[in-house]
Amino acid sequence: MSHQSCVFCNIIAGKIPATKVYENDRVMVIKDIAPKAPVHLLIIPKVHVPDVAALTDEDAVYATAALLATTELKKQLTGSQSFRLITNTGTDAGQSVFHLHFHFLSGKKMVDL
Ligand code: 5GP
Ligand code: ZN
Repeated sequence: MSHQSCVFCNIIAGKIPATKVYENDRVMVIKDIAPKAPVHLLIIPKVHVPDVAALTDEDAVYATAALLATTELKKQLTGSQSFRLITNTGTDAGQSVFHLHFHFLSGKKMVDL
């Protein structure tokens, strides 16, 4: 299900441009428009679920696909093979786009959780 006003649904539909680095039937991976690390990707499941806590059994395959995509993304890393995977849930946690996504961050030393 796609939501007309959702920025990530519109990116998946090709209506808003983005720099795509990986895609399969269930996920799209793009570069974040405001990177917080030398490598800052967004792994976006191709289903409109607002956040990780709203997942259902039916959608879970898309979330699993997002986790599995890290294998491909890790292959593309040229420096350190370390990365951090984050999914903000709720405004107080920093969520600003209410379509489930995972931040894939790499390329710098990350010390604080
Ligand atoms: P959140 O704050 O919800 O955890 O993460 C949303 C992320 O989406 C932010 O890091 C923000 O920079 C990124 N973002 C928002 N709009 C766009 C867009 O139109 N294109 C791309 N590539 N990233 C976006
Ligand atoms: Zn959406």
